[in-house]
Amino acid sequence: MQNGKLIIFSAPSGSGKTTIVKRLLSTFPQFEFSISATSRQPRGEERDGVDYFFLSAEEFRQKVTENAFVEWEEVYNGTCYGTLRSEMERIWAKGNVIIFDVDVMGGINLKRIFGEHACSIFIKAPSVEALRERLIGRGTDSAETIEKRVAKAEFELSKASEFDFVVVNDILDNAVAETEKIITEFLKR
Ligand code: ADP
Ligand code: 5GP
Repeated sequence: MQNGKLIIFSAPSGSGKTTIVKRLLSTFPQFEFSISATSRQPRGEERDGVDYFFLSAEEFRQKVTENAFVEWEEVYNGTCYGTLRSEMERIWAKGNVIIFDVDVMGGINLKRIFGEHACSIFIKAPSVEALRERLIGRGTDSAETIEKRVAKAEFELSKASEFDFVVVNDILDNAVAETEKIITEFLKR
């Protein structure tokens, strides 16, 4: 595969990763989001081919067999997410920088695969309580799903030191500014 640069964002769900990534995408025109495949159902306004490629469990398994994924994980019980080789090739072919929003294990794997071509950033909420409040405030998940996501956060937080950078998302504007500084330095390399 042709090698360009990539920026990886991972965080416990609810930390504000999507919010930060959206801000960056609107600031840096050469950034393009890698649309993952998932076996979960769309929620809210999500659209196929925009937010994710929504696949059935069977279609997802088929792609695994075809070696279509650079990495994939069963992030939540029975729900799989994966980075498509074709997505990365499409974005690099245009000369763009790929932005990833992947789970913590996916982020660690992508960094291991792409080494110096990759900058991995872990986004952290100021506390687990703030994380829970943000998930409740987002209003997209059931109480049960929220508790599952919060329960997973402890494990995910224990992996933060395996990332190149950790950004605490307390005041959003500050977190965005810090992230922009990290990325600007990385792109100069
Ligand atoms: P993630 O992608 O990490 O799951 P989101 O970007 O969806 O998280 O953010 C979760 C919720 O928290 C959203 O409702 C978002 O508007 C809110 N949020 C994001 N950043 C902050 C912040 N710094 N302070 C308060 N709320 C925030
Ligand atoms: P959500 O269901 O909230 O959209 O995403 C759940 C989790 O799956 C998030 O932590 C998100 O980062 C992760 N995720 C999304 N796409 C991928 C992917 O391609 N690979 C991996 N490993 N995780 C992903």
